[in-house]
Amino acid sequence: MSVLIIGTIALDTVETPFGKKQDILGGSAVHAAISSSFFAPTRIIGPLGEDFPEEHLTFLKSRGIDLSALKKMKGKTFRWSGFYEFDMNQAHTRDTQLNVLLDFDPKLDEETKKTPFVFLANLDPEIQLKVISQLKGPKLVASDTMDFWIKSKREALHEVVKKVDFLLINESEIRMFMETPNIPLAAKRLLELGAKAVIVKQGEHGALLFTENAHFSAPSYPQAQFKDPTGAGDSFAGGFIGYLAKTGDLSEGNIRRALIVGSVMASFNIEDFSLDRMKRLKKHEIGERFEEFKKFSEFEALSAAHFA
Ligand code: AMP
Repeated sequence: MSVLIIGTIALDTVETPFGKKQDILGGSAVHAAISSSFFAPTRIIGPLGEDFPEEHLTFLKSRGIDLSALKKMKGKTFRWSGFYEFDMNQAHTRDTQLNVLLDFDPKLDEETKKTPFVFLANLDPEIQLKVISQLKGPKLVASDTMDFWIKSKREALHEVVKKVDFLLINESEIRMFMETPNIPLAAKRLLELGAKAVIVKQGEHGALLFTENAHFSAPSYPQAQFKDPTGAGDSFAGGFIGYLAKTGDLSEGNIRRALIVGSVMASFNIEDFSLDRMKRLKKHEIGERFEEFKKFSEFEALSAAHFA
C-alpha cells in the first residue's frame, strides 16, 4: 500500500560538533519520504521554490519517490538553520525562513486523496488540517510537529491531535506542548485530546509508544558513528509508516516492529550530514541493524527462586 507524505522541502544550514554545511538538502517531507521509500511506494507533497536545485529532485526520483504532485512555486525555498551542541538530542534553531511555505495551499487530486497511509510531517498545523479535510478513508494518519508550531499555532495543533491516529513528537516538545515534565502524563493528555496513539522520540535514548491500553519502549542503539541528527525524527516516521504500509498490518505486535524499523532508519540517517548516509544505504543493512535492536531489547525472566 502506498504512502503520502506532506511536509517541508528545505535547504538547511546545519552546524554540529562534527562540522558545518550550508544549504544542504533537508526538510521534514524529504527525510521522511526517503526513509519510507525503502518500504513502500511514496508520494511527496511540499512547497519548493524556484531556487531548489534540480539535482535534489533527480535524487528523490532515483529513489522511486513520486514527485508528480510537486510544483515549483514563485519565490525562495523554505530554509532552516540550526546548530547542535554536545547534547545532539536538542536542535537549536538559528533562523527559519518560511518563504514559499507562506503561500502553500495544497489541493490533493482524487487519487492522492485516497492514499491509505498518510504522514503529515512537521509543517504549519493549519496546512496539516487542510490536508486532513481532503483525505478519503485513510487507513492510518500520523503527524509530527516541533517547538516552532507549538509556540505559534497551539490551537490548530490541538485540532490536528484530535484527528490523527498517531502523533509523533520528541520529548522536549511533548513537555512543552502539554506543559508538564512528566512524559507519561503528557502522553495521556494527548490521548485524552483524541490521538489514538502517541510516539515520543527520545533521540539516542530510543522511542516510547503510548496507547490507551499499551506501553512499549524501543531501545537506544549504541551509535558508533554520528555526525548530524537533523532529520532523525522524520526518518523515524518515514520508516515507521513505510513499514506499516508495506505490511498493511496494524496489530500491536506489528506496530512495535514498526517502531523498531523507525529507530533503525533514524540511526542510519544521523551517521552523516543531510541525506548522505541514506544515499548509500542498502536494504540488507536495515535487516541487520533490526536484528541488533532486537538483541539489545531482549532479557530473560526472573527466576522465582530469586524471591524465595
Ligand atoms: P527533524 O527530523 O525533527 O530533525 O527535522 C529536521 C527537518 O525539519 C529539517 O531538515 C528542517 O528543514 C525541517 N524544519 C525545521 N524547522 C521546521 C519548521 N518550523 N516546519 C517544518 N519543517 C521544519
